[in-house]
Amino acid sequence: MIPKIFFTFIFHIALFNSVNFAQKMDCSDVLLESLDKEFQQELFTSLDSLVEQIRRNQISEKILWQKESKLSKTIFEEVHSYEKSFKDSTYIISNSILNCYPIGKDRHLCQIAYYRQKEYNSKSLQLLLSVLVHKENGILTFSTPLNYYTDSWNKQQVGSIEYYYRDTIRIDRAEKFAQKNILFASRFKKPVQSLHYFMVENYQELLRLLGFDFNAKSIGKLRDGFGVLGDDVIFSIMNNEDFSHDLFHYYSETIHKWSVRNWVTEEGLAYSWGNAYYTRKDGEIAEQKELVEILQKYMDQNPNVDLLSLFENNIWTDRSGIYEHLAPDYQVGRLISSLICDEVDKRHGMEGINILLKIGSKPNHIEPFLQSIDDLLGINRSNFNERVYRLIENYR
Ligand SMILES: [Zn+2]
Repeated sequence: MIPKIFFTFIFHIALFNSVNFAQKMDCSDVLLESLDKEFQQELFTSLDSLVEQIRRNQISEKILWQKESKLSKTIFEEVHSYEKSFKDSTYIISNSILNCYPIGKDRHLCQIAYYRQKEYNSKSLQLLLSVLVHKENGILTFSTPLNYYTDSWNKQQVGSIEYYYRDTIRIDRAEKFAQKNILFASRFKKPVQSLHYFMVENYQELLRLLGFDFNAKSIGKLRDGFGVLGDDVIFSIMNNEDFSHDLFHYYSETIHKWSVRNWVTEEGLAYSWGNAYYTRKDGEIAEQKELVEILQKYMDQNPNVDLLSLFENNIWTDRSGIYEHLAPDYQVGRLISSLICDEVDKRHGMEGINILLKIGSKPNHIEPFLQSIDDLLGINRSNFNERVYRLIENYR
């Protein structure tokens, strides 16, 4: 039998919680003392609701700041997938409100921590998320801090692209990107997408602008980008104005469902129509022309090279070392795919390209690609070396 005193104890705990700690997330006494008592209650209830909606991945439009709702929703969904990825049946996730301070009239910047914990082990920090809290017409809404952090940056419109930068901008690269935007739209028969393009030094800066002050999954990651976010926001790769590689993926995604996309085709076309994603050691992003010339030289020095295995084994990571002197991240398998995709384009136009983009990934991404280029070009495993050799020679 449970002693009566235990019920009394539980009752007191409940009462204590409801009066003093109405919010579910904990926070320090210092923070509590710094905030207005009435606003504190309202703010913490809203933050609890935001964290709960992220947890369930059911983010209501009502809690999003209208001026930036698409981007914020995308980022909060991203938080959901991070949370899901570090949680399993043996771990629990807990949150704390670490900081909250006013940054202007009716706006606060708040920082929420996500911890992972296994029973009695100590908590480990997984994510530190900063969000902007806006109070308009008595209602609290949330957004990423991007708008606040970049408010004083310089702006320059180039075609449909609005560039945001601190000091300088390379207009030649920006114009190239804006031109590619028009080209991709016309080839996919979609309206030209207007974009806000933020120039950032590296991936960690990009994360911070979006509110990810710390992310355990991105420790030390520097050279990456994030693709097009919320339909109209894109960040540079290492401060380069032409991120047409991911712009290609964005347009492809507007036509082809995730489940049918083939990433050997996608990466090949992104190399061919856009660029090779990563910056070279000198800050430029390599394009197909340069990469094919290096491959030709390699073939001259290695006349017996097996192009099929060079293709198959160097799509996801490159172990060939062919481009090592330029950058560590270019993949010769993707370059070979780009040349094959160009041949499909030459012979079958957009109809062939769209077939190749939606051939799926069963049993993997390479097999349906090889099957499809056999149907479209007659290139298969038995004649791959000879046919692809001729394709590469055509680029001399
Ligand atoms: Zn890509």
